[in-house]
Amino acid sequence: LTAGTKCSGCGIVLQTESTDLPGYIPAQALERTPLLCQRCFRIRNYNESSTVTVDQSEFLRLLSQVGDKDALVIHIVDLFDFHGSVISGLQRFVGNNPVILAVNKTDLLPKVTNWNKIRNWVQKEAKELGLKVEDIILCSAKQNQGFDRLLEVVGFMRGKRDVYVVGATNVGKSTLINRLITDYSDLEEELTVSRYPGTTLDTVSIPLDDGHSIIDTPGIVYESRYTELVNKQDLAALMPDKPLKPAVYQLNAGQTLFFGAMARFDFIEGERQSFTCYINNRLNIHRTKLDRADELFEQHGGEMLAPPTKENLAELPAWTRHELRVPKGKSLDVFISGLGWIKVNSDQGALVAVHLPKGVKVMLRPSLI
Ligand code: GDP
Repeated sequence: LTAGTKCSGCGIVLQTESTDLPGYIPAQALERTPLLCQRCFRIRNYNESSTVTVDQSEFLRLLSQVGDKDALVIHIVDLFDFHGSVISGLQRFVGNNPVILAVNKTDLLPKVTNWNKIRNWVQKEAKELGLKVEDIILCSAKQNQGFDRLLEVVGFMRGKRDVYVVGATNVGKSTLINRLITDYSDLEEELTVSRYPGTTLDTVSIPLDDGHSIIDTPGIVYESRYTELVNKQDLAALMPDKPLKPAVYQLNAGQTLFFGAMARFDFIEGERQSFTCYINNRLNIHRTKLDRADELFEQHGGEMLAPPTKENLAELPAWTRHELRVPKGKSLDVFISGLGWIKVNSDQGALVAVHLPKGVKVMLRPSLI
């Protein structure tokens, strides 16, 4: 590898030394053309929905100049993967510029949702993460809901400023940008052709009719999201495309749920109680005894317990176990980034464990629903 050789996907300088650092390319992949860093290779081959992507530190470096400008920032997040897609470091670089939080994919929540409660929840969680937001817009790019309100707020707050749109991958940023463009300029076609490998790591500026611009920034890759680890086929099993139908399980301590072969949930200690799974309904939930769970996975992982298939399972990192204690009298979600969440409806408290590929983010959070 010649020093300074760049990835033809994202433009980062390639290196073969450290898998953990940006620009890593396995030595054996140096034969391939085009030369792509491992991340770009994976994105291209497994998860084509992502176009230009960077990791958080690169992204923050890229946008550190926003703080010096007079700009409006739209931060778009995925409601189904809120804690996986929110950019927690955002506040540091936007300076005093106003941020609008667009919370996309509201169509995925059950039809009978209390939207005021969701809004308050988002507000509280954002605050907790140190994000100061001017407004929160719940929207669905797919159902075309909330966009009118968003456009209204952007129109009102933008004044004579540029608009930066930031978000993680797969949150619906492209859809949003296209809406903004249709509303503010005649440049619809410009965007779809402007983001191409080799030109990357740069923001894409879309001129508006009034001389200002919408600035599309690369989608951030968070490797802690399950959706970044899987191939395209399994991505469809993770990402719901219809409203979630919560599945309620009454469990005794010593019982386990498998979500296909994507994850496993053990109820270790506590009174008999109900657990509500907000997970893509395409994933089969299999209930078993905790003391049989290891064996079951060993024998049937990738077959009876699927997806992923055996082959695809082998491509994923090995599972790790996260033990979590839900305190008494609290209504909490066991949140698994990219997979969904399990609400613990507990007055008594519970000790649970989640097993899933290493690196995927798991946390307890106040119940969304
Ligand atoms: P980007 O990677 O952030 O630019 O996101 P895209 O606009 O390409 O969308 C990523 C994925 O999310 C696609 O599979 C979209 O169909 C899906 N998606 C986008 N908006 C919505 C939405 O409002 N609801 C649902 N259910 N899916 C959406």
